[in-house]
This record gives sequence, C-alpha cells and structure tokens, in this order.
Amino acid sequence: MSKFPPKPAQIGERTRLVHAGREPSEQHGFVNTPIYRGSTVLYPTTDDILNRRGRYSYGTHGTPTTEALESAWTELTGAAGTVLAPSGLAAVTLALTSCLKAGDHLLVTDSVYRPTRNFCNSFLRKFGVETTYYDPLVGAGIKDLLRPNTTAVLTEAPGSQSFEMQDIPAIADVVHQHGAVVIMDNTWATPLLFPPHERGVDIAIEAGTKYLSGGSDLLLGLVSANERCFKALRATYDAFAMCPGPEDVFLALRGMRTMALRLREHEKQALDMARWLANRPEVAQVLHPALETHPGHDIWKKDFKGSSGLFSIVLKPCSDQALAAMLDGLGLFGMGFSWGGFESLVIPFDCSTYRTATQWKPGGHALRFHIGLEDLDDLKRDLDAGFARLRETDAKAA
Ligand SMILES: *Cc1c(COP(=O)(O)O)cnc(C)c1O
Repeated sequence: MSKFPPKPAQIGERTRLVHAGREPSEQHGFVNTPIYRGSTVLYPTTDDILNRRGRYSYGTHGTPTTEALESAWTELTGAAGTVLAPSGLAAVTLALTSCLKAGDHLLVTDSVYRPTRNFCNSFLRKFGVETTYYDPLVGAGIKDLLRPNTTAVLTEAPGSQSFEMQDIPAIADVVHQHGAVVIMDNTWATPLLFPPHERGVDIAIEAGTKYLSGGSDLLLGLVSANERCFKALRATYDAFAMCPGPEDVFLALRGMRTMALRLREHEKQALDMARWLANRPEVAQVLHPALETHPGHDIWKKDFKGSSGLFSIVLKPCSDQALAAMLDGLGLFGMGFSWGGFESLVIPFDCSTYRTATQWKPGGHALRFHIGLEDLDDLKRDLDAGFARLRETDAKAA
C-alpha cells in the first residue's frame, strides 16, 4: 500500500487495486515500481553477506518488482502471503506440492482444469500421492470420501468447461474438521468476485495469464495462502525457484490497476450474450452460473459477488460438419485455448473422454465462450451468421 494517500482504515476495492504494491517514495517519485532485472545482489560488508543481511538476497528469492505484485495480491486476497509462478499451471503444482508428501491422499474435483488432472495422475502418483476424483456437487458429502491420510482437497468453481458450482464453505467446514487443507483454483472469479480465504480456502490459485493480464500477452500464476499454509508454500517456492520473468510481473501489475473495470465489462457483455444465446433455437442449454436457469445459481448467489466473461453452451443435436461450418467461418471469435484477454474466443469441448467420477452427457456439441470487449452487436452478427451456416449445412445433408 502506497504512502500516498495515507492509509485509511477501510478503502474500497478499486482504490486498493490502484494503490496496492506501490511505494513511489522508494522509486524517486515514479508512480510504478520499475522492472528490476537481476541475479546478483551485492552486500556491502563481509558481516552482511555472512549473515544474509539486507532486504534482498538473490534474484530467485525476489526483487522489488516481484515483491510489489506479491504484496498487492496478499492485500487483495486477504491472505497471509503470496508467491508467484511462471504460469497458472505452475501455481497449481506449487500449491499441491506445498502440502502433500508421499503416502498422502488427495481429493480433486472431477471438474478440475484438465492439465491439473494430468499433473496429479503423472507427477503426484510417481511421488507416492494417491488422487481420487469426486463429484463437484458433493458439498458436505465430501465427508464420506475423506480417509485418515487425506491431507488436501482441491476445489474449483465454477468447473472448467462445464461450470458446475461447488459449495466451497460447506466443503471447507467438513475438510477442516478432518484437519486437511482446502485448495481452490479461483481463476474464473478472481479475488474480486470470490474472496477465497474469507470463504474457507487455505490456498488459492490464480492464473494471472487470464484477467490479471487482460491482454493475452503473458503467462503468470499466483498462489495466496493463509497463516496455516503460507510457510510451507514459501519454502516450496524457494525449493523450486520457479520464478516468473520480471517483464511479465510488471505487465501483471499494470493489468491489475484496471482489472475491476475490465471484469465488470466482461461480466455485462457475457451476461447479455448468455441471455441472447439462451433464446436461440439452435441452443439447448446455457451453462452460466449467474443465469437463474443454472443448477448452481443459488450457490453462486450465496458466495460470489459477480460473474466473469467465460461460460459454455450446449447445442441442440447437429452434425460435426454443421458445427465446423459454424465455427470455421467466424470472423470475430477466435478459436484457441486460454481466455481473459480483451478478445472474444470460442472452443468446442468434450469432457466425456477424461472425466472419471461423473458422466458428461450433454446431448449435443458443447462450446465454451469468452466474451471480450468488442461491440456486442458485432459479436452477435458474427454468431448469427454462424448459426445460419450450421442450419444450412444440416438442411443440405438431410
Ligand atoms: C488457464 C487456467 C490455468 C492455467 O493457467 P496457465 O497460465 O495457462 O498455465 C489454471 N486453471 C484454470 C482454471 C485456468 O483457466
């Protein structure tokens, strides 16, 4: 928190986003903390180097640039501390390895980000950690899945691709009674729309690649932890020395200043688009937790402060060719992984090939949309023409 203006006891979120992680007085008055590049940090005397005296010790342990983002994120999440990682997935691996050891049992939601599942099934298994996947809708029923050696439960809400809502406080209550740690991948909501540690999460993960960047121009991960878990998290970070590059951290800080405004616009645009899609004859279902029709809407209303720009739909049955005709001809929606930038994206997806605790049988092709900051009318015209191609392709084949 900057010294300008003086710290009020209670400041709003937008003020916090503008001021957190900045000390202009330490940067010759310049508004932003600059990009500190560096490995070596010099110590003035033998006594200083032998006793590791000084605020910074070596590039991998942190610089003023990385510290600025860490402290800002700690303020924003209400955590005890934050560590950074070179990608969102790296943040997931840091969080997991900080609280697991050989012989432990891990519970992971079946709706988890797919590369997280790959990490559990390959790396964690190799090092003696057993993973069980659970139904994301389990709620307090997680109690029946806990084993004496269950040390961590990984949650994600809404679920990747399919948008199941998890009752995080209900799960956290039960898991804490057991003595285990609750981890959450909070990338969809960011701490602005879901304050993870207030809701019972011990370790929260954010892919800064998404809304913190806002520009599809960097890869970054953040892990915040409460008092109980931060020491082990920091030790794991130091052990791996998996530090992000200074330019990416600088860009993330720059993105953070405008994150609330961008998120609000993504929310507004995505909600409008979700309602428009719900009224289309080609669409069977819209999977957006802020819509009253979503099965997890009550949980969203109870625990979340808003929604972001990412949601999915299920199409009424159509051929693969019709789907390709729709998607291949889109002019404004790009097709590609990741999201959270200023641009609109769409991907086709199918969870049925890899989920193990639940069945994904939507009854039609599924699409995930990220709604960007373009003019909504243009986006709707693009999709409208796409739906026309879809209908024509199937009509011709019939
Ligand atoms: C994108 C994403 C990640 C991974 O972030 P990268 O920076 O791409 O590695 C992790 N979790 C969720 C929910 C994501 O959407």
